[in-house]
Amino acid sequence: MKLFDVYPLYDVEPVNAYGSIVIDKNDTEYLDLYGGHAVISIGHSHPHYVKKIKEQVEKIGFYSNAVQNSLQSKLADKLGKLSGYDNYQLFLCNSGAEANENALKLASFFTGKTRIVAFNNGFHGRTSAAVAATDNAKINAPLNKQQDVTFLPLNQIELVETELKKGDVCAVIIEPIQGVGGLNEGSTEFFTSLERLCNELGVVLILDEVQSGYGRSGKFFAHQFHSITPDIISIAKGMGNGFPVGGILIAPHIEPNYGMLGTTFGGNHLACAAALAVLEVIETEKLIDNARVLGDYFSALVSDLPGVRKVKGKGLMLGLEFDFEVSELRKKLIYDKHIFTGGAMNKNVLRILPPLTIGKREIDLFIKALQEVLVIEKSVIV
Ligand code: PLP
Repeated sequence: MKLFDVYPLYDVEPVNAYGSIVIDKNDTEYLDLYGGHAVISIGHSHPHYVKKIKEQVEKIGFYSNAVQNSLQSKLADKLGKLSGYDNYQLFLCNSGAEANENALKLASFFTGKTRIVAFNNGFHGRTSAAVAATDNAKINAPLNKQQDVTFLPLNQIELVETELKKGDVCAVIIEPIQGVGGLNEGSTEFFTSLERLCNELGVVLILDEVQSGYGRSGKFFAHQFHSITPDIISIAKGMGNGFPVGGILIAPHIEPNYGMLGTTFGGNHLACAAALAVLEVIETEKLIDNARVLGDYFSALVSDLPGVRKVKGKGLMLGLEFDFEVSELRKKLIYDKHIFTGGAMNKNVLRILPPLTIGKREIDLFIKALQEVLVIEKSVIV
């Protein structure tokens, strides 16, 4: 059987990895500044994580949600403490798209309404509120017809107010820092007004922290830079460090009832063991502080490089906006310098999403490589 060919692939096959290093089948080492779309939070194959998963799989890997699983409560407790949301409720699932689908469904149940407000260049997975960028409309066309989603520009609160006042909106869904879209952010003033409007008009505010969460921004959740408290927070990516696990944190005023949400695989024993190990490492190795400090270090060094127009994002969720499209630059970084970076819908943005364990030495290596590629190859790239 052939694979359904939907991904353009780089000609590299990783077969091994540790920390921020990925090794391909020819034994070539790569510096990983992308973490497979921001998934690798505590570094590849972290010894504590490997140990916990091995120990768990030797006992039990999976049983259904129809029986008790105290690992789920352990995970909820630890997540509540580290994130500052210990009065919230946790529903576990398997991916970012699923987390957002459940968040939207819950908002619809809670309000009895169906329309969703999302934002231009936002990305919420292959969901009802999929992608807003017009050049990606083809990805979403069938879905957007099924669900009534209104896309608005960021930072224009009066447009949001007009939509919410129509009275048929169940949820506003927004990333605190846009990942796939290219690291655009709403201002604190925008987020606080959004929270106030949602509260006043009975609309559920969903913060999609699938990419920006789990310490990547330098706070546990990136929306905490704006001192807002959403009704629902969706999580995935860094949560399992590569093990597929996602979830939603749900405010206490949204009450559960049996059958409201459900999943076969969500919250299984192995996923919980992986997710718990991730939180333990984030805590003991102070990775949120590392994300903040190393993010500042990175941003300061990179901002003066030739062609860098702007450094966007926070902590270790960064985008370097160049004055040219970065696809050739990414190829040169991978094939010539053996460094993984990411692209974005904004074709001029190079995304940097390394493991939160990264150190200054790796950042220095990248800066040197980038300088060389930019200076030596500038005529080719630009
Ligand atoms: N939400 C955000 C902000 C994302 O960046 C992504 C994936 O890139 C998703 C949701 C979808 O996550 P998944 O691919 O796990 O379904």
